[in-house]
This record gives sequence, structure tokens and C-alpha cells, in this order.
Amino acid sequence: ALVSVPRDQHTISRKDISPNALKVLYRLKNSGHQAYLVGGCVRDLMLDKKPKDFDVATDATPEEVKILFKNSRVIGRRFKIVHVSFGREIIEVTTFRAGHDSAENQEELHPKHAVAAKSEHGMLVRDNVYGTMEEDALRRDFTVNAFYYSVEDFSLKVFNQGITDIQSKTLRIIGNPETRYREDPVRMLRAARFAAKLEFELEPQTASKIPALSELLHNVAPARLFDETLKLFVSGHALASFRKLGELGLLKALLPATELSLQQDESGFYTRFIEHALLNTDRRVLQSKPVTPAFLYAALLWPAVNEQYQQLKNTGTPPSVALHKASQHVIGEQNKTTAIPKRFSIPMREIWELQLRLPRKQRARALAVLEHPRFRAAYDFLLLREEAGETTDGLGQWWTEFQQSDPAAQDIISQKQV
Ligand code: ATP
Ligand code: MG
Repeated sequence: ALVSVPRDQHTISRKDISPNALKVLYRLKNSGHQAYLVGGCVRDLMLDKKPKDFDVATDATPEEVKILFKNSRVIGRRFKIVHVSFGREIIEVTTFRAGHDSAENQEELHPKHAVAAKSEHGMLVRDNVYGTMEEDALRRDFTVNAFYYSVEDFSLKVFNQGITDIQSKTLRIIGNPETRYREDPVRMLRAARFAAKLEFELEPQTASKIPALSELLHNVAPARLFDETLKLFVSGHALASFRKLGELGLLKALLPATELSLQQDESGFYTRFIEHALLNTDRRVLQSKPVTPAFLYAALLWPAVNEQYQQLKNTGTPPSVALHKASQHVIGEQNKTTAIPKRFSIPMREIWELQLRLPRKQRARALAVLEHPRFRAAYDFLLLREEAGETTDGLGQWWTEFQQSDPAAQDIISQKQV
């Protein structure tokens, strides 16, 4: 059961909470509703980290919330939630929900409420079942994601286990691990992501059930899987997340071709290549630079693309045709798992194709490559290949100089190479 931690026994202070989130909480409270800050933001505040965004849980229905905030809209794919907008900040307001176990009871008590449904794999396909706060806490994924902060008396409502877990830096799934992963296999990815991001240890049962259930990820819609995979890699903890995925046996379900290439990676080249790519990504996030999903996926799929490209080339296919075929095939296969939107897969292919054009140093060709919208990404990609140990005859250095040179000097560098 949830217990109350009074204001003088926790460290969360109103000054660390977004004023807009407080506005939402107060308006709900003043309208006679229960309202709490919940989820990742409370967890992060407990850990003295800056929350990414602020989520609110309430006993008001989405329709009731909508009426209270004119700057709001009801959205919902898997379930209805309300987004309240304040300029660029969005406060997400979710109605208390119950998990499936209490759904039957709910239906008897409130026949007007929707019913949770499970697919044959035990997956929740619909869970718009409103519930009590206690039920809402039980259907959340991890104990440290089920903290509720109240503006009634500034107390926290938590599971006792959540407090010991946050103190010992333990990530523990709520309830029976197997049942919870079956209900929503994405929770396995979330386990990897939070363990990496928070530097928490997975509680043994929370971890040990994952490898055998990893295949369940195939039942998740590829579009959702793409989004969740991206979250793992743009979190600023991409490398740690990738290693966690490997440890938990999740890589195969997410990036099957990559996993296969890494299995056969005797020289360690591809492992170094991907690790460097992820490390670079983490550095960029740390410096608040943009990271593009196209570059990330281009790197993650390169081992498979390059292997197939080399094979086709060895059997006599011309290089550009070989690369085209390899790209087509690898992307096509990957789309069955994580649907990569076209706006990312097109630049991915351009990055790969530019790898074939970069070695051609004649002035006119080099200048055309320099003008290409994907040049910068392709150049970074080349440097990664070199960092991982590929010998390119100083090509990276050549491009570094060529970019920095004025036209006269470019003339000399390029002619030297013809
Ligand atoms: P982040 O810092 O990445 O935003 P978060 O914990 O806030 O982390 P969200 O995806 O924003 O993660 O979800 C908000 C909250 O909703 C979570 O803390 C958790 O309580 C609950 N939640 C989200 N996804 C699931 C899920 N698949 N199963 C159960 N509960 C979930
Ligand atoms: Mg969040």
C-alpha cells in the first residue's frame, strides 16, 4: 500500500517544480480533484536531477480536465491523456488508471468505464480503465516511477519499497516481472534505459526474466518500437544503454542484423565502430548539440550493410549497385522490427552512398561532395570508421584539410591526388 512521506522527511521543494505544472496541480485541486506530480519528474527530483518534463496524475477524467484548461487537448493512441500547453512546455495530465487485474471489478462497479483487454500473448491492448490512485501506482512500471507529490500538503505518496529502492539505486519492476513484461514488452526496454540513465542496478528478478521474454518485443508495433529504441539512444546514455541491451539479451529482438554482425565480429572492428558512434552521440547530447536518428541508425546498421556490400562486390557486382542492394535489403529487414520513417532512411542511405564518393579526390568531384546536404554527416561517419581502426589512407585528414582550404589551396590538394 502507498504510504505518506511528510514534507519535512523528503527533499522535494516547490522551487524545483515547473511553475506551469504547479498551476495545473492547483487548478485541479481547487476544482475539487486529486492531483499529483508523478513519474519520472518526481523520481528525478528525488535524485537531485533536473526533470525532463512534468507529468500530472488526477482523478479527473480527460473530459473534465479538458474543460478546466482552455489551452489543452485530448490525445491518445493507447490511452487518452490531456496535454496542457504553456508556450513550448506541455504538461501531461493522466487520469488514474487501473491495471488489468482489477478490470473485471471495475466493470461491475462502473459499467460505463472502458474495459482493459489482453491479446493472446498477455499483452495489454487497451487500458483505459480508470481506477484509484493506489491502482494507478500498481500499474506503473518501476517502484521508483511510482512516486506521487501532492500540493495539498506537499507530502509524497509512495510504496515503502520505492524509498528503499531509490536509496539503494535499485530498479525494480512492480508486481510479477513476467506478467508485467507480457502485458507490455516495452517495459523490458525501459528497464535497460533507466538502468543505464540512472546508473541503477536491476533487481535480480527484474533482470533475470528479460532474456527469455525478449522475443515478445516482436509483438510490439514497429512504429512504437522505433520511438522507444530512439529514446534509448538519444538519452545521453546511448553507450551504457547499448551495453545493457546486450547484457539483457535484447539486442537481437531490436537490431537483429546488427546483433548477428557483432556475433561474427572477430577483429572487433564493428563493436568499436558502434561504441564510438554511441560515445560521440552521448558527447553531443551533453553539449546540447542535435543528434539525428538518421546518423544513429546509419551507424547501427553499418555492420550489416557493409558485410552484405562486401559480399556482393566480391561476387562481381559493381560497387554502387552492391551498396544500393545491401542498403535496400538491410533497411527492409530492419523495418519489420523498428519502422524507420522515410525521412530518416533516405538520409541514412545518402550517408552510406557518400562513403563511396569520399575517396574520389578530383577537384570537381570533391567540391560536389562538399555541397551535398549530407556531407557533414558522411564526413563524421568516415572519421568513425577510422577511429574504429579502418585504414583509409588518411582520407579523413584529407577531407579535414580540403574543407578548411580556400579555393586555390583546394586546387593544389586535389590536383596532387589526380
Ligand atoms: P523520462 O525521464 O524518460 O521521461 P519517465 O519515467 O517520466 O522517464 P515516461 O515515459 O515519461 O517516463 O512515463 C511517465 C511515467 O508513466 C513513468 O514514470 C511510469 O510511471 C509510467 N509509465 C510509462 N510507460 C509505462 C509502461 N510501459 N508501463 C507502465 N508504466 C509506464
Ligand atoms: Mg517523463
